[in-house]
Amino acid sequence: YPTTSPAARKILHDAWGYTSFRAEQEAVIARLLHGGSAVAVFPTGAGKSLLYQVAALGFGSGVTVVVSPLIALIKDQVQDLQRRGIGAAAVDSTMEREEVRAVFERVKNDEVRLLYVSPERLNNDAFVKLLQKTTVRLIAVDEAHCVYEWGNSFRPDYLRVARFVKEIKAERVLCVTATATPEITESISTAFGVPSDGVFRTSTYRPNLQLLSESFKTSRDRFDYLVEFLNSNPGATIVYTLKRSTAEVVAGLLETAGIEAFPYHAGMDKATRNATQDRFMKSNITIVATIAFGLGINKPDIRNIIHYGPPLSIENYAQEIGRAGRDGRPSKCLILMAPTDTRTHDFLTVNPLLTPRKSGIRRLLRHIFLTHASSAPPSSTITLPLHALARVLEDATMAVTALLMKVEMECDVVKALPTVYGEVLYR
Ligand code: ADP
Ligand code: MG
Repeated sequence: YPTTSPAARKILHDAWGYTSFRAEQEAVIARLLHGGSAVAVFPTGAGKSLLYQVAALGFGSGVTVVVSPLIALIKDQVQDLQRRGIGAAAVDSTMEREEVRAVFERVKNDEVRLLYVSPERLNNDAFVKLLQKTTVRLIAVDEAHCVYEWGNSFRPDYLRVARFVKEIKAERVLCVTATATPEITESISTAFGVPSDGVFRTSTYRPNLQLLSESFKTSRDRFDYLVEFLNSNPGATIVYTLKRSTAEVVAGLLETAGIEAFPYHAGMDKATRNATQDRFMKSNITIVATIAFGLGINKPDIRNIIHYGPPLSIENYAQEIGRAGRDGRPSKCLILMAPTDTRTHDFLTVNPLLTPRKSGIRRLLRHIFLTHASSAPPSSTITLPLHALARVLEDATMAVTALLMKVEMECDVVKALPTVYGEVLYR
């Protein structure tokens, strides 16, 4: 397949006003335009949406179906495309029958270049039938790691995506994600029949992100530090907590301390959540949230991502800090640890509903064993030099983190998993 495409450049210029492609974007698009399928593992903010959007216009006719996990994200993109005069539409669970029918009509008339759907829609017979009668140029699976990480517990519908591609005879497939270990990438490309030369990766290096961590003796000290930090580092901020209750409590305390902060978690009603998200998109407030907040949020000027306690997994951490500084300006990613954290994290690690089948922690530990400790007796203490740690973390898509944190890891291999994880990230 060619790696450049003059046609794609023209579209980029005419429809988006951008002057050039970023690393690997053009190669992926050129491949798609020449009939190939691809998997793109690019960091957050790299411009993965543009891959299927430019390709969709390049096909000229027929529809590109974009499968995306979040309605908010779908709405964002459809609005943006419509503003650019591009035929885009969505069908989602919030729509009335009539609205859906109108979209179907537009698809039949070949007026829709990009059709966004949530994975649930793939179970809908009428929808499958419609697409069987339509020329589907491309199926793009956004946040494709969800196919595997959430497949069993959260979003069973994502498992259907690969079958759906065959059912509607899509000409090609593109899976994009920011978070895929080599293992997950391999599973994705196998499931969708993408050969290895169709897998594109770019560096996860984000030089404008400064990675920091602090540990505290008491929760009180930690909170005081947070207030001080927010006062001296202005700008839009997300504070991540593992528990909904912590998100509420911390947001409340911040308000009391004179900082404009709002909680966000899946236990809150939809209207409140939407209002909070809207406010965040438009201003520089602080959101105190669980992992329910942020997937696909495209606010370029988030200045701080703070983990108030440990992140759920290495993948989560990578994804969450990836939301900072997409405008390229200096931004801070800060982990604040207190002694009470380990218990929460223990719980979350063993709770099968909350943990992806192979959590980053497990994988990390296995790596430590396989690459560095295989000859050492299990009770010994091992020391990982910086470069080794970088390699370990690279597999979890996080080489930079290790380099920037400048950690020398020293860990007891028989310590509990969360503790090992803690040592790696927080020393
Ligand atoms: P991702 O899905 O990879 O996290 P997005 O697709 O949301 O990233 O893109 C992030 C931002 O980068 C968007 O505002 C997008 O318009 C912009 N962008 C993408 N590609 C280019 C490019 N080649 N030139 C300039 N801006 C781009
Ligand atoms: Mg995206």
